Amino acid sequence: MNLSASLLRRFAAAALGLLLVVCSARAQSLELRFLNVGQGDAAVIVTPEGKKVLVDAGPGGSPLLSYLRSHHYDTLDLVIASHGHSDHIGGMADALGATTVRYYLDNGIPHTTATYQRTMQAVEASGAQYLQATARTITVGSARLRVLPPPSRQVDQNNGSVGILLEFGEFRALLTGDSEQYELQYWLQHESIPQVTVVKVAHHGSPNGTTAAWIQATRPQVAVISVGAGNSYGHPSLRVIEQWQRAGARVYRTDRDGTVIIMAGRDGSYVVLNELTSPAPVAPTPAPSARESDSTPQPARACCRVCSRGKACGNSCISRAYRRGREPMSEREAFYTVDRIEGDITVLVGDDGIALDVPGDTLPLRVREGVVLRVRFTAGGQPDWSSAASDDAERERRLKEAGDRIARLRNTDPGGDVVL
Ligand SMILES: [Zn+2]
Repeated sequence: MNLSASLLRRFAAAALGLLLVVCSARAQSLELRFLNVGQGDAAVIVTPEGKKVLVDAGPGGSPLLSYLRSHHYDTLDLVIASHGHSDHIGGMADALGATTVRYYLDNGIPHTTATYQRTMQAVEASGAQYLQATARTITVGSARLRVLPPPSRQVDQNNGSVGILLEFGEFRALLTGDSEQYELQYWLQHESIPQVTVVKVAHHGSPNGTTAAWIQATRPQVAVISVGAGNSYGHPSLRVIEQWQRAGARVYRTDRDGTVIIMAGRDGSYVVLNELTSPAPVAPTPAPSARESDSTPQPARACCRVCSRGKACGNSCISRAYRRGREPMSEREAFYTVDRIEGDITVLVGDDGIALDVPGDTLPLRVREGVVLRVRFTAGGQPDWSSAASDDAERERRLKEAGDRIARLRNTDPGGDVVL
């Protein structure tokens, strides 16, 4: 054997050894991945046993679906919707339709948007076992998820977010949706909130999603902000970033770092990889510019076909024949629901599921979350916000439909802790 062949063989053996070490470390690790979905949240947990949990599904048109497909994730053991806002469940119906979902957990607080209705229809159609956000522990392989329930009788979606404390040996992470100061304080008073390794900063780094007491209790080494570049809401707040940094956390944000991946060991050790600034290869996600963002104003879609029955065809059409009481829904008007209010911006979701950011002072009336507006279109096919009028009967109808669906699902909850 000549010298170069011997060296080559030794190099190959060493490379194989390294690969085996990396693969075995990976096989014993838990992966916590904060996907870059633009302005919204979506996170995936993969246990060493290969069990998969999805926490939130990003806005409509987010790259979640292509992520699930490219990884051949055809079964999700547990799907959690932190709350019903469209930047968290916009991609949920598609995710539920594209995978087999074993368990589904949400906050049980009805919302009136078309996105929420479509999500809940998909939950029922999926056959997933529904779980309420009660104080329960869900064991997923060698990981444990402790559910932090929202305060009872909560109607506000953000302050009704489901909290999840993920425990994998000594490693802990906290994901709390868009919880605001009220709910964070509630948990500090009613739950035991431990020090954790990773915090998903609540409400996209908005000032109302962080408190000094919450930082003091959690004292994470890593704080991840899931946020879209150039969003209309001023997320994240620089002061919030500084607060977490001052407490010793390294702050990652999906708008700058891309998808953030944490590989955690049972001993509490971890590695952070990120799509845009790490040399390590991570799964490709489509460029943000190639997708619809629910924070980018979109022109209203023309009604694509006229239905003979019902309010909507598929998810994007308003029926010519739809009648509510004695007031017909004309072809030149549509419902828009107040999904949420972010400072000066009112986020309206049309019955086509597309979210639009509208400055609050554009509307002729003061609105709050969940209000359903009847809006006329201009001759150019754009929503004429000055025509917006509240339709309380339609709002009540949607709340009743959602309430009935939640009651049916609740009846199937086995209760107690769950082992997946
Ligand atoms: Zn949000």
